[in-house]
Amino acid sequence: MRFSFDLTDDLLFEEGKFLMIGGPCAVEDAEQTISTAKYLKKLGIPVLRGGAFKPRTSPDSFQGLGLNGLEILRQAKEETGMAIVTELMDTADLKELMSVSDIIQIGSRNCQNFPMLRKVGKAGKPVLLKRGFGNTIDEFLNAAKYITREGNNKVILVERGIRTFETSTRFTLEISAVPVIQERVDLPVIVDPSHPAGIARYVAPLSRASVAVGADGLMIEVHPDPPRAKSDSQQQLDFNQFKSLKDEIDRLLPVCNRIYL
Ligand code: PEP
Ligand code: MN
Repeated sequence: MRFSFDLTDDLLFEEGKFLMIGGPCAVEDAEQTISTAKYLKKLGIPVLRGGAFKPRTSPDSFQGLGLNGLEILRQAKEETGMAIVTELMDTADLKELMSVSDIIQIGSRNCQNFPMLRKVGKAGKPVLLKRGFGNTIDEFLNAAKYITREGNNKVILVERGIRTFETSTRFTLEISAVPVIQERVDLPVIVDPSHPAGIARYVAPLSRASVAVGADGLMIEVHPDPPRAKSDSQQQLDFNQFKSLKDEIDRLLPVCNRIYL
């Protein structure tokens, strides 16, 4: 078996299982986050995403609710029983973040923040590591090694698109990274189709491609009212769009030898 580890007491992630993670780009308020969590829970999605600390390109953009965002995630977890994944931006927040988050997300911009990778390696919780958008597969796998070297093998690798000369989409989803990485390391590889798409209507086709290429899961941005989202409003799916995508994945998984985690 390529990999097998616990995400929480109830969630064993192993080869053959397909991990679905959904939720808003950012935690904006309790109503927005908890309504999304409840909807996703109803569809059987086990893990809720949502940034409390947001790595925004411009300092003028919404930066996330910070510690208040973590409290909202705590409430979402209590009300739905979903596992939580949220991004760590500053190791000073690690302890607070770990008190809520079952999985620690390291974003694309921190993929090569080596001191941070060492610290989350030592922390021992599962880590979701997103590929730096300017990183080769080699660089990405070396980054992952900073975590596993600390004795933490619970690492989920995320292909989330890279910067290329192409500007029609926000980033270029490197679909071939999935089988290449799976061949090279015994870690799960999931795809985030939302950030490379940049536009909601491309999220479903990129998701289908990810399932077909053999990804071990998907992480998708979902928002109750995407046009009003405070970040990444163009790429987030509303509930109906997510439901129809989920229906498609339901049909594809058996063909691709995967069952939902
Ligand atoms: C995210 O998933 O919240 C995010 C900011 O994505 P990335 O780090 O891949 O840009
Ligand atoms: Mn986002």
